[in-house]
Amino acid sequence: MPKKSWLSLLGGNLQTDTIIAPATPPGSGGLAVIRLSGPRAESTLLDLFRPASPRARLLSHHLYLGQLFGSDGRAVDEVMVVIMRAPLSFTREDVVEVHCHGGPAVVHAILDLFMHSGIRMARPGEFTQRAFLNGRLDLSQAEAVADLIHAHSSGAARVALGQLQGKLARVVNDARQQLIEYLSLVEVHIDFSDQDIDLPDFNPLASRVAELVTYLEGLLGSYRAGRMLHEGVRILILGKPNVGKSSLLNALLGEARAIVTEIAGTTRDTIEETLLLQDVPVRLIDTAGIRYTDDPVELEGVRRAKEKVASADLVLLVIDGSKPLDQDDLLALSTCDRDRLLLVVNKSDLSQQLLDDAFQVLEQVSVSARQGLGLDTLQTAIKEKLFAGAVVSSEDVLLYERRHKESLSLAVRSLERFVAGVGERLEAEFLALELREAIASLGEISGDSVTEEVLEQIFSKFCIGK
Ligand code: GDP
Repeated sequence: MPKKSWLSLLGGNLQTDTIIAPATPPGSGGLAVIRLSGPRAESTLLDLFRPASPRARLLSHHLYLGQLFGSDGRAVDEVMVVIMRAPLSFTREDVVEVHCHGGPAVVHAILDLFMHSGIRMARPGEFTQRAFLNGRLDLSQAEAVADLIHAHSSGAARVALGQLQGKLARVVNDARQQLIEYLSLVEVHIDFSDQDIDLPDFNPLASRVAELVTYLEGLLGSYRAGRMLHEGVRILILGKPNVGKSSLLNALLGEARAIVTEIAGTTRDTIEETLLLQDVPVRLIDTAGIRYTDDPVELEGVRRAKEKVASADLVLLVIDGSKPLDQDDLLALSTCDRDRLLLVVNKSDLSQQLLDDAFQVLEQVSVSARQGLGLDTLQTAIKEKLFAGAVVSSEDVLLYERRHKESLSLAVRSLERFVAGVGERLEAEFLALELREAIASLGEISGDSVTEEVLEQIFSKFCIGK
């Protein structure tokens, strides 16, 4: 059982260990919350806590005001506490939350108090890990906890929340259960293969598997949109010098009123800014102008621009609409992939030239970066271009983790081999193998069959207290 071996990796015994950690970030604040989980959480609290009005028993899921006392009898803080008895808690163990005053000294004093009573500090992600090990969350949901905590846009938060609510978990689990049933139908015939019995007709099974493949491929198709919502998108602003790239960047930033950060590692030849385009985080990259040259420094700039074009989700190719186009505009165009290209005809406030055929055919928006004209249309066009045809409704399951996508692709490939194998009337042994592989690949998403390395990697992304 993979979950058991993961338990042994933890060293500690989950049945007896009780853990503690601040659930709120370090630093000063109005309040801090300290969380405990494990069998001794409640009894230790009762040793240290005195309710403001004495009671025989504290009810589960109720807040109580009172004070925490140290072993020397001195009050450490006035707090509110809540006990959430198993299994109705995040970890499915007894959980206690102490809401205290939000200063580092108070938090430390309270942690010390509990740790002196034999409660141990939690490792990063250990609360979520327990929730996973106790079957409260599957692995994809546990991963979503970290994603939700780290989400910096409402789009990213929305996809993470969907996953936390078990949308992906349900789809994967249903598919897995279905395949386990099919496997049992096929395995029956492995046992009889040495006897002279004809293999049954697996075609009806193959057509059900083919339907599942179509469904899972649809899910794989949501990855692009999911990833863009989750990670944000990279939009490159490209064009020869002086067409107004920097002005456009600034105009878009001004319009969005949301300069988030100046990205670290900005090089001399590019400027990167992050903004929220509706609810999608967008990283706008302004390249140095691209132009024909023999100068090795500028050639290097062209080479880098090409690399950036390759890694961008969308390129805004900027031209100066008031001037005739030249070979530098064509050079810029030649580095682009038409599917991910939007032509921005800038300087619409000046009288406009007729566009050459090569540019006329491109999807385009006319703007004036200087006067702020056409920016709304540009933003809408950007969003439509990025999410064209993609499923982004919150009702749908969106795949956004690379790990999930890879496992799902593996499952789909095994299932395709299964379907082909049935067509070729291959041995039941072979067919069963493909089904088992598909089941295992789906199990990597849910955590039913996952290696310790993967688990370790996933939970190490968490911070203490999560
Ligand atoms: P970059 O080299 O492509 O980044 O171009 P800049 O943004 O530095 O702009 C080059 C020149 O064009 C500057 O003098 C800008 O003021 C001017 N410019 C930029 N956008 C517009 C526009 O929409 N209309 C007009 N008339 N001038 C613009």
